[in-house]
Formats: sequence, C-alpha cells, structure tokens
Amino acid sequence: MIRTRIAPSPTGFLHLGTARTALYSWAFARHHAAQDGKFVLRIEDTDVARSTQDSVDQILASMKWLGLDYDEGPIYQMQRLDRYQAVIDQLIANGQAYRCYSTPAELDVVREAKKARGEKPLYDNRWRPEVGKVLPDVPRGADGKPLPFVVRFKNPADGDVTWNDLVKGDITINNREIDDLIIQRTDGIPTYNFAVVVDDWDMQISHVFRGDEHINNTPWQINIFNALGAPLPQFGHCPVILGDDGQKLSKRRGAVSVTAYEDNGYLPEAMLNYLARLGWSHGDEELFTSEQMVSWFDGSHLSKSPAQWDPAKLLWVNAQYMKQADNARLAGLVTVQLAKSNMPVRTELVEVQRLEGICALFKDRCETTVQLANWASVFYAEPDRSTDSYKAEYAQHFTQAAKPAVALLATKLKALPDMAWDKAGIASAIKETLAETGLKMPQLAMPVRVLVAGKAQTPAVDAMLALFDKETVLARLRQS
Ligand code: GLU
Repeated sequence: MIRTRIAPSPTGFLHLGTARTALYSWAFARHHAAQDGKFVLRIEDTDVARSTQDSVDQILASMKWLGLDYDEGPIYQMQRLDRYQAVIDQLIANGQAYRCYSTPAELDVVREAKKARGEKPLYDNRWRPEVGKVLPDVPRGADGKPLPFVVRFKNPADGDVTWNDLVKGDITINNREIDDLIIQRTDGIPTYNFAVVVDDWDMQISHVFRGDEHINNTPWQINIFNALGAPLPQFGHCPVILGDDGQKLSKRRGAVSVTAYEDNGYLPEAMLNYLARLGWSHGDEELFTSEQMVSWFDGSHLSKSPAQWDPAKLLWVNAQYMKQADNARLAGLVTVQLAKSNMPVRTELVEVQRLEGICALFKDRCETTVQLANWASVFYAEPDRSTDSYKAEYAQHFTQAAKPAVALLATKLKALPDMAWDKAGIASAIKETLAETGLKMPQLAMPVRVLVAGKAQTPAVDAMLALFDKETVLARLRQS
C-alpha cells in the first residue's frame, strides 16, 4: 500500500519548498494508482500562536491552483488532541515517556553549564526514570497541586538510529547525540515530532517526502515509531532550494510563496514543471506534463544536492506554456490581471471574444499573463505618450515622409465598410497606401504601430489593427 502526505504548518503561505515536496508526494501516490496510492493533506496547526485561518486558506488555495488534489484531508492536528493524549498516557504507563518538572530557568542553567564545559547542551535527565534511580519530589504549588510539567519521550540511551533515505542514502545518528524530546508542552499540546509520528502511523503513511531541515528530527521520530510498535515509513529528505545568491531561499531574497507566482502571472502547469525539475530529473526532459511526471516518478532520481532557484529559467518554462495555452483560458486570466492592475484600463471595453483574439496574437511574445495583460491594455486604454521611450519611437518613426502616408492610410481605413474591417481588408488598405506613396512596409507600419499601440515592436500590423475598433484606430492615427 502506498500512502503519502504533505503536512504544512499554517504559519504562512505555501512555501515553494513545501509545494515541491507536495508535488513529489502527490506524483508518487498517483504513480502507484494501481496499488491504491493515496495522497493525504494534513494541516499541522499545533503552533497555536503562529497558525492562522488565513494561512490555511492560502495553503488550500495554492494546492488547488497547482492541481495537487488529495484523497484525504485536510486533517487538522488540533482536532486530534484526544488521540495524542491517549498515546501519551499509554507511553507514560509503559515507562516510555515521563513527566518532567524542570522549569525553563533550571534548564537554562543546565544548558549554560554544559556549554561552558564544551558539551552539547542536552537535557540532564533529571526526571528520567531509571531502574534504581531516586527521582526528585514532584514540586507542588501552595494548593498542593503538582506544578506544570512537560512530557518527555524516553529516548534510547545509546545505540544507533539508521535509515536508508530515499534521497540521501544511509543515514546514521547515535542516540547519545540526542536527548529526551519534549512530546507534550505544559499546555497539553503535543510537539511536532510526536504528533507527526502518531499521524503518520494512524494515516498509514508509507513514504514521507519532506525538506532536509527535518533530517535531525527523524531519529527521534523513528525511536517513537519503534516505541509504539508502529511500522516505519520510508523517508526521503529533499535538499533545500537556494536563491540565486547561493543562500537558502527566503522571503528576504524574493518571492517564496506559491501565491506570489499566481499573482505574478505564472501558469500552474509551468510552476509544477519547474518545481518538478528542481531536484528531480527524468533524463534530459525539461518540459513535460504532470501526467508524464506521474508516469515517471517512482521516487528515484531525486537529487542529493541543493537546487538553485532560477527565475530566468522559470520564466522560460512559463513562456513555453503560454504559447500552448488555450486562448479562452488566457483571456480569463488576463481579465483577472487587468482588473487588479493599476493600468488605466476601461474594463467595460474588455470583450471576451476580442480578448481571445488578442491573446492568440500576443501570447507568443509574453512570458507571463501579466505581460499579456500589459499588451491587452493597449486595446482598452490610451498608450502612455508621456514616456521617453514613446517620444523616442515617435520621433524616429513618425517622419515627414511617413506623415502623409499615415494620413492616406487613415482615409482608406475610414472608407472600409464595417464588413471589411478585418485583417484582409486592412492589409489591402495598407498595400494600396504603399503603392500610392512609394514607401516600404516598415516606413508605414512602424509609425502606425507607435501611434496606435504605443510601441514600434508589435505583431503583424494588419492583424493587430483588426483587433481594434475602427474608431479607436482612426482616433489614434489622428494623434499626430
Ligand atoms: N509541519 C512540518 C513542516 O511544515 C511538516 C514536516 C513533515 O513533513 O514531517 O515543515
């Protein structure tokens, strides 16, 4: 049975690193569909102070946007407190966990003393029960009740913890390196390392893909699985994603949330393709669909070394998907971008059918839907004629020789019957104008582009003009 999960903490947006391990977990489950592969979404919300509903909503929205559908969940850890309590009670009853009354101040003293001796600042085992050991008296308040305590897992005192990591290969950590982990805080809420084990056990998770910042947690988790007599999942720890400065990708170094890429006009299939390649490969394949990835992704070929986030490559991948994208879909995405942009767009002019034509004509030259929206805005708002680049192009192309030709073209366009206001009709008006003035195509097309679209570089001028209203074209040609 193959069961995977992604377990984000709702303390912020869905991080790119988490999106990547979500993708691997999802693809692995889908790859094993014949073995009833399942993918579970769990929300690890036990950090009550930092978890928010807004983050949960953002995470769910990002999963949806990426198309990472889950078979079970979202399961919220805070709704499972009774279950954790029952397991903790059982561990205490079995002598596998114990109450620790050391105060934070006492622990600080121990830690500092160990550091001063050059030792690892591990817990001093004060409350750890051992055969023949006399434990301190339980401290009590004035009312006679025991003071607050945490529950610690009684970690094996020595011996090695070894696992064969799907990404990193064999990893061994000696139990002397780690101490008795707090599994329940004074407020009764379990800690991550404990809840994650109970959940992975209860949810029968067979494979855990996650970031390698969790490698140090895994020995504790394995020891807890063993103490519970629970079967171990296989672990695969994916290396961190580095920013282009070689440092760990972080908010300070640019966008780290999936949402930001959605907002910035990326397509989810491009994002998935890019994330997939960031730490995994299938031969030299660079562009592939998620169906292809599912058919290829068997947990092998995951990279051991950190991947570098490459915004230029992501843009390139996105541009490839823009070219293939359906025009009606792009028109919908562009409408969203136009609505939220501060471009001076008269959105009431945005007509779906025409916008699809605009997308068809311009998508090849756009890396994102934001760029496409910028082009589309030319159809719905006057170009900004105050910029230096506009003035330079205007001066370069709207020459004395061009002026009468533009005026002649305007007359011919005006005379075109509505029925003939299309690419072919406009092309013949242009051809006639060139024949009558003796100008070459660029001498006429460039100034027309500048006047109508605000830029000298556009797709074919006849195709572009046909997507405008005739009145708009004539008004803009009169700008001169
Ligand atoms: N809540 C943990 C995180 O967001 C999950 C780690 C795990 O997958 O075990 O890092």
